[in-house]
Amino acid sequence: MEKVPYQRLRWEIITAIIGFSVVPLLLLGAFIYQEFSLSYTAKIQESLKTLAENRRASLDLFLDERVSQLVTLAGTNSLERLRDEDYLHKVFNIIQTRSRHYIDLGVIDEEGNHLAYVGPYYNILKGVNYKNEEWFSAVMASGVYISDVFTGFRRIPHFIIAVMVRERNKIWILRATIDSEIVENIVRAALIGKHGDAFLVNRDNILQTNPRFHGKLLEPVSCALYGEACPNFSGATSTLVEEKSIGGLERLYGVSVLQNKRWVLVIIEDPLEQLSPLFRARHLGALIGLAGILVIVVGAVFITRAMMKELERMERKKATADEISIQSGKMAALGKMAAGIAHEINNPLAVIGEKAGWMKDLLKTEDLQGSENFQEFADAVNKIESHINRAKTVTHRLLGFARRMEPVSEKVSINRVLDETIDFLENEARYRNIDVQTDYDQELPAITSDSTQLQQVFLNILNNAIDAIGKDGEILIRTSFIAKNNALAIEISDNGPGIPKDALNKIFDPFFTTKEVGKGTGLGLSISYSIVEKLGGRMMVASHEGMGTTFTIYLPVDIERPQAIY
Ligand code: ADP
Repeated sequence: MEKVPYQRLRWEIITAIIGFSVVPLLLLGAFIYQEFSLSYTAKIQESLKTLAENRRASLDLFLDERVSQLVTLAGTNSLERLRDEDYLHKVFNIIQTRSRHYIDLGVIDEEGNHLAYVGPYYNILKGVNYKNEEWFSAVMASGVYISDVFTGFRRIPHFIIAVMVRERNKIWILRATIDSEIVENIVRAALIGKHGDAFLVNRDNILQTNPRFHGKLLEPVSCALYGEACPNFSGATSTLVEEKSIGGLERLYGVSVLQNKRWVLVIIEDPLEQLSPLFRARHLGALIGLAGILVIVVGAVFITRAMMKELERMERKKATADEISIQSGKMAALGKMAAGIAHEINNPLAVIGEKAGWMKDLLKTEDLQGSENFQEFADAVNKIESHINRAKTVTHRLLGFARRMEPVSEKVSINRVLDETIDFLENEARYRNIDVQTDYDQELPAITSDSTQLQQVFLNILNNAIDAIGKDGEILIRTSFIAKNNALAIEISDNGPGIPKDALNKIFDPFFTTKEVGKGTGLGLSISYSIVEKLGGRMMVASHEGMGTTFTIYLPVDIERPQAIY
């Protein structure tokens, strides 16, 4: 059996199985990951946008509430009442009960004079004139004004909300200072992850809250962290999300513009942090994929190995069947040839034999006994007769073989046939000091077979064993029943010299003999082989040089329904 083509076939099948299952698996995995990654990234951007929008809305709501509180206050109280500091104090306390966001409250006339004040900086701020302050002209121009965060006279960050009131022919301003801490808190609630940031910038890109990494309150936004200049956030006009790389670091920027004040809320996220669930899913997916590939590879190797084994087994079976059919062919041809030769030779042999007998008679009757060469003649005639007899033995065997091609069916006890055969050879074995041992299965079932032909087979094998041993040895005959195949096994072992490897596959060939000329015909085993085969059985040999030989014959119990017995 050729090993190489099977190896190649095995690898081709393994590669094909792996290729056809792993490649689509990888493609599918890559496609799913790609799609998942796109939608996940989109989702992150979307949620950042929503966050920016929500925070912006909170800030606007906060400013809206403060402005409407002040507008209501100014609209429902006259300047005369509010410039009374005791009354203003009461009002201040009322608006502070709901929220502690106001630091102070002041009433300013149209000349910029601080008419009344409630708050912690009374001594500094009372009597101050705001006429030249930027916020003063702004509120006079627009009616409502929200300032940027500044430190002002108090030196702490705050911002003011001022509303202008027209009261008959008078104009006055109600101004409140708001703790910028509250704005800071609303913005800080948007902080995400370890590298995330959130802050407010005014229209000049000046920070209105304290960022985590991007500069300091009241200073321009700084991207010193990345070693590069920051984008100008103050130019934003609507809510949007962008991914930008600054100094080689990828960042997601969500910006949203407040409605009440030209402030821009900036929320910064590290996409790697946000994508970590995606990466975890990718790692897990890769692990599952690898495990899947491993299972496929192991499965492919396993299946292929099983397939190859089956293929090799079938190939071996086929080779055996081929060998058997070749052997049968040889036997059939031999049968015909044997019958022909035996027939052709038998006639001349009979004539030669008859003539030799007549010559022998002549030698006795004629007056040749006195002849000088009488003894030579007599010896020659004897030799002719003995050789004719030998030739007749061969032709008889050949004729017997030809006849034996068709077996008869009868009930046969194998143990008994073996015993009879041993009886036949007992003298020869004893003479040569060969011990013939038997180990019979006493429960051996009787089989349907041809006892004469089987005897012929056993005789051939035992004769060969005796010949092989020569002198002093042992032959063991064992019988057993193979229930699984409903068959018998007959093993005949000898401790002779064994059969050389190169001769082993020729011993069943017709005319193969290693015996000296005149002793062996080389037909014994080939005839035996064909007999066993005709009886539905199988004959095998196992031999190791120097260790002896074992012939095993398998015979079906029921010749009509022979089982596969090899
Ligand atoms: P023959 O006995 O006439 O030689 P066979 O066909 O019976 O023809 O045997 C063929 C050959 O097989 C023998 O010549 C011998 O070399 C070998 N052989 C058969 N049986 C044995 C055995 N038990 N031990 C060793 N060689 C054997």
